[in-house]
Amino acid sequence: MGNKELQELVTNLKGIGDKTGKLFEKCGVKTIGNLLEYYPRGYDHFKAPVRACDLRSGEISAVKLTIIGRVTLRRVRNLSIIAFEAADATGKIRIAYFNSPYLMSSLKSGTTHIFRGLVQKKGSFLEMNQPKMYQDEEYAALLGTLQPRYSLVKGLSNNTVKKAMSAAFVNAGHFEEFVPQDILDRLKLISYSEAVYGIHFPSNEEDLENARRRLAYNEFLMFVLQLRLLKASQEEIESSYKMIETSDTVRLLEKLPYNLTGAQQRAWEDVKADLTGKNVMNRLIQGDVGSGKTVLALLALLMTASNGYQGALMAPTEVLATQHYENFTSMIKKYGITALKPVLLTGSLSAKDKKEAQRQIREGEVNCIIGTNALIQAKVEYKNLALVVTDEQHRFGVRQRESLAGKGLNTHVLAMSATPIPRTLAIILYGDLHISIIDELPMGRLPIKNCVVGTDYRPKAYKFIADQVAAGHQAYVICPMVEEGELDGVENVTDYSETLRQNLPASVRVEMLHGKMKPDKKDQIMDAFARKDIDVLVSTTVIEVGINVPNATVMMIENSERFGLSQLHQLRGRVGRGDAQSYCIFLNTSESEEAKERLGTMNKTNDGFVIAEEDLKQRGPGDLFGVRQSGELNFRVGDIYHDSDLVKESAMDADRILNEDPELSSIQYSVLKSLLTTKSANSVDFATL
Ligand code: ADP
Ligand code: MG
Repeated sequence: MGNKELQELVTNLKGIGDKTGKLFEKCGVKTIGNLLEYYPRGYDHFKAPVRACDLRSGEISAVKLTIIGRVTLRRVRNLSIIAFEAADATGKIRIAYFNSPYLMSSLKSGTTHIFRGLVQKKGSFLEMNQPKMYQDEEYAALLGTLQPRYSLVKGLSNNTVKKAMSAAFVNAGHFEEFVPQDILDRLKLISYSEAVYGIHFPSNEEDLENARRRLAYNEFLMFVLQLRLLKASQEEIESSYKMIETSDTVRLLEKLPYNLTGAQQRAWEDVKADLTGKNVMNRLIQGDVGSGKTVLALLALLMTASNGYQGALMAPTEVLATQHYENFTSMIKKYGITALKPVLLTGSLSAKDKKEAQRQIREGEVNCIIGTNALIQAKVEYKNLALVVTDEQHRFGVRQRESLAGKGLNTHVLAMSATPIPRTLAIILYGDLHISIIDELPMGRLPIKNCVVGTDYRPKAYKFIADQVAAGHQAYVICPMVEEGELDGVENVTDYSETLRQNLPASVRVEMLHGKMKPDKKDQIMDAFARKDIDVLVSTTVIEVGINVPNATVMMIENSERFGLSQLHQLRGRVGRGDAQSYCIFLNTSESEEAKERLGTMNKTNDGFVIAEEDLKQRGPGDLFGVRQSGELNFRVGDIYHDSDLVKESAMDADRILNEDPELSSIQYSVLKSLLTTKSANSVDFATL
């Protein structure tokens, strides 16, 4: 960004002192430019108040009610609770405020207010906790508007961010345009500056969508340009690691207890052709969860080892890396694969073990290095690395490939992904990769049985889990992690494990797993689960990717309405991986029709592509914030499904621009060029955004 105002510190803004500055820093916001790019994570849409009889549990609504009966103020330990009932002609609800005794003076019986908040069902009653309160004229001023909601840290209020944002626009609201006018005209895109303003302060939904589209276009254009520029510099690199097919892979295939599916077979042929071919491999294997990608990684790594080279397998999490390592080690033993010598390299190894692993890698004692992303960032010296396989790798992108190339390592790259991207989009987005698609599940898999249920089903679900455990199986229970205080009633892993222990027979071993645990603790728990020393694993979405415990047959997802469909699909993919019948229980705590419909999709199909498409159809522009999709290619604003047209357009534009001016050296692209260099760090690292 060229203009100086954007580089100034946020503490230069009126009303922002050092203390607030520190809080902003925790959010990654240092400069005014950072602040303006701190986009809302959602919006409060001020819709017209509804009647009490139209309130639905799980929805955020406004309702105009008169306080009836007595307003009570109670104290429970150090909590003060105001409680009362309020009604209109069609019905009544309960309302409570905590630690706000000062409200007593305005909350008089007989007075009328507009209350806006989350509606929840408690027994046969609907209630609102801590609703915001408005008088008619106040609400009228907000009616129809979308107010931004920002990610916050303790001590930083949404209002403070909003005020700072307004001040920032006074000081520095101008972002230099970098997209040619004819493109903006053709796609009816608003200017960059307007878009940044609109994403924070949209005056209506249309405004927001215009802003969102423009910023999404920016992301796609930059992303595609970077891919293309890299491709131009890397295209058709001659392979220094030409391989031949050895008997090891053939023998492994004979020893496996199953035959490869037709689709696995085809993908394996593709990989073999790449590894034995003239140029460096750049291949993406895309296959739905459970389609059997791991064995292809093993085959490719084995072929590499048999040819006398080293290969590396990178996973997004330590848990997954460790699982791959253990899986490989046990297969090596079982099938006598002597050529493959694996080593595990993760951040949580002790310094001594790390050193030893690094020595083995340097001296070529091992030829299959399994670990996390840190693998290529750390100062690992390989003896002769020829292949990098990335599994479920959200962050493996252009930069990592660059980083490998920067080490003089023009290795073969095999990326494996379960994100169902329609082929046409995948070709655009991964323009420089060849693609193999595994569109077939192993034979004999029983389709997962699904059910979407309400909270009253919980006792039955627990009973069901207990029965499955008694039959020798295992279960996962997923609770969403949400920002503190965001929503009441969201189940939390620690409490939930306790509840489960109380509701299951004492013999059932329940443990928990969440992202805040130390890596080695996580590994320990996952190991124990894989070894069947744990029956029920209560977890956040950290187990979402890749974990393979075929003996687990039940997946229960609490608050499933809080997840995106593709994410639910990934979670569900943790079961149905063995011969036994598996089950997925989607617990819906909301009564909203929309949630019911969305979850209904999960009930109807187990096909990841169908789900991705449905997901796209069902989401409106406002929903694109908040419900984040997991998996690859998470842009900050853009959504490759919803904005698939923009993805295509931006790819065309990128090609045109580079055709005209391959080096982007003309004045008209100077801003674009500087953005590409200064921003490459975050615009390409897919899921970090
Ligand atoms: P994903 O594609 O989700 O990574 P995995 O590679 O973990 O799936 O495979 C899931 C399970 O299916 C594993 O237990 C694996 O051993 C098994 N599997 C893989 N290929 C086949 C096959 N062709 N026939 C039967 N089972 C298979
Ligand atoms: Mg996998």
